[in-house]
Amino acid sequence: MNKLIIENATVLDMVSDRAQPASTIVVEDGEIVQVGKSDDFGSMSDKPGVTHIDVGGAYVMPGIADSHVHLLAAFADIYGGQDLVKLQSDANLAYRCAYNAKRALLNGITTLRVVSEARHIDIDLREAIRQGTMIGPHLFVAGQGITSTSGHGYNSPGTIEIDGPYEAAKAVRQQVKAGADLIKLMISGGIGTPGEAVDTPQFSDEELASAVSTARRVGKTVAVHAGGSKIITRAAQLGVTSVEHGYEINDRTAETMAECGTYLVPTLVVSNDEDYTYDPDRPDWWREKAQRAGEEHVRSFQRARKAGVPIVAGSDVPDFVEYIFREMELLYSLGMSGHEVLVSATRTPAEMCGLAEVAGTLQPGKRADMIVAREDPRQPKNLRDLLMVIKDGAIYRDKRKQKATEFWTHPGKEDDPCPDL
Ligand SMILES: [Zn+2]
Repeated sequence: MNKLIIENATVLDMVSDRAQPASTIVVEDGEIVQVGKSDDFGSMSDKPGVTHIDVGGAYVMPGIADSHVHLLAAFADIYGGQDLVKLQSDANLAYRCAYNAKRALLNGITTLRVVSEARHIDIDLREAIRQGTMIGPHLFVAGQGITSTSGHGYNSPGTIEIDGPYEAAKAVRQQVKAGADLIKLMISGGIGTPGEAVDTPQFSDEELASAVSTARRVGKTVAVHAGGSKIITRAAQLGVTSVEHGYEINDRTAETMAECGTYLVPTLVVSNDEDYTYDPDRPDWWREKAQRAGEEHVRSFQRARKAGVPIVAGSDVPDFVEYIFREMELLYSLGMSGHEVLVSATRTPAEMCGLAEVAGTLQPGKRADMIVAREDPRQPKNLRDLLMVIKDGAIYRDKRKQKATEFWTHPGKEDDPCPDL
């Protein structure tokens, strides 16, 4: 048995909104078995197979989940566009995805929900990480995103085009057959595809109903890329699990989402005017659409939040290892409390993915995915100064004796973004 004992921790368990100082967490074979006041544990002697770590009062919380990621999108920039990504070999793309996933883990992101990826690389990578042949976060993956012919994302290598309820059901089953954990549907226009508005419906009622019922029948959750109130209402009523982006959500739609238990992954960085300049090579039409969507996007998020729709943090834009933290800072600046922001990247995504029994909080029975932050991460900017990253009870990063700035890494800006492994 492998035992890890973390002592002298300030625990943020993501159940209570209070920090619990002077706490101890006991992990056995990758699973949390005890969390409590250090005083209650008595003295725990050193035994073979037991690792003691004194974190000196630092904050310990569950690892971060980024719930809207495209592992390949980050490389559109490197290669000069999606068309060039299409020309790369499967192996090259897979290596690149694996590199990105590893970098995410080392920066504290212990779960990635991948919502459409080319050539089922996401599914193979999930398996490779599970088998231990690659290092990376837990992946919860959609396989190919399903769009209509000429619909949102048709120009991306990660989608499959359908027409009619029959093809919608078939495309869902193809992803299930390949091993997808969830189904991603592109049911309205968006920012990243030219010639469409963010609120243009692109799935017919019949296509949407067919895809959702086919996925639900086999127990898969459903994420919809959606922009306009009307189609979001329809999707919520049909029982989709989450709305991604939600560029335009009116009060009634927000109420319907709350009643139906629909999650919102707003990905506000996509249209935030300080952030949409993330890539100077984006074409003008992209920039203009993002700018135009921005204000209503924020208002829609606020309406959803007010109505009680559960909010989940997701980044969407490259580089997601940077932008998930930007998104959390943005949610904080828009009025969510620090605790709420952290919950949106830990407990709520676990619930959304049907993984609440094994992930999302620091409680006995959960897998030991944890990060250790030097300062209180309820100020989300402090997530950029992590001391340790632990996944399934294994320590992937331990920077306690190094300077804070060495932890945070940007691709292309550091000589060695993964120096420890
Ligand atoms: Zn996306």
